[in-house]
Amino acid sequence: MSKPQKSAKTAAKTASKPASKSAPKTAAKPAAGAVAAAPILPDYVFRWTPGADPQTPAALAKFFDSAPIRVLKERMCDIGRRMWQREFTDGNGGNMTIRVGDDLFLTTQTLISKGFMTPETIALVDGTGRQLAGKFKRTSECLTHLAIYRNQPSARATCHAHPVHATAFAVAGLQPPVGMIPEAEVFLGQIGLAPYHTPGTPALAEEIGRASRRHYSILMVNHGVITWGDHIEDAYWKMENTEAYCKTIHIATTLGGGLGTINAAQMRDLIALRKSLGMSDYRETFSDSQLLDNSAFLKRVNRR
Ligand SMILES: [Zn+2]
Repeated sequence: MSKPQKSAKTAAKTASKPASKSAPKTAAKPAAGAVAAAPILPDYVFRWTPGADPQTPAALAKFFDSAPIRVLKERMCDIGRRMWQREFTDGNGGNMTIRVGDDLFLTTQTLISKGFMTPETIALVDGTGRQLAGKFKRTSECLTHLAIYRNQPSARATCHAHPVHATAFAVAGLQPPVGMIPEAEVFLGQIGLAPYHTPGTPALAEEIGRASRRHYSILMVNHGVITWGDHIEDAYWKMENTEAYCKTIHIATTLGGGLGTINAAQMRDLIALRKSLGMSDYRETFSDSQLLDNSAFLKRVNRR
């Protein structure tokens, strides 16, 4: 989430430096409460050299089979398993991409269960969706993912799934309310809602691309959810956060007595916290009443 000051690899190297052999044993032990080395922040962000994308078929093949790319392919398979185990995807639903160059993206293949992917099923495409490497055909929905990168330069990875509660909100055409759970405000911001278009079409891609300028998590009406983040784990966390939030709100509406929110000053604190973690929030300039405007949601819920 936040930008690590030191890569995990470098920090681990520093942390593993052995103590001097001549030092007394007791001296090697840090004092109570002291930290032996700088704490390590996890760093999953893939960094490429701008202007240096491989161009020839041979260079692309070498890059596609390089160790750092193999790590990302494994990570996509791992996250696919987690999505399937949590019932965020069914059948061959859901897909993911990771940006690995100025115009290079890893993507999941078409017609595959996300719970049972292997690294060789991952494909490499350019920003138009043209497949550059990988023996299996890329997902048709990657055009929607690619539109996010075109509209949102901060995006490094995207995740799409059909988790039941969040998709139920999307089917109901209901944008989730705001100001109800602090973590959702900090890590998701306002969840967006984008109109329906046929999956895999340029019209859907355009719609989702536009929505990604404001929202990190977007409900696709009558379809599912798409999220983006700094890295694939981050995009997936946002998928989990979105589903948990929609499930909680759904349950809360069944309990009677209305739904509580935090106040505008508390909302502004959370937006500031969100910004300090490197995430933007288009609601910064909102008035207090706009910040906590759940009228459309409450109107629908109270109508039942
Ligand atoms: Zn879908």
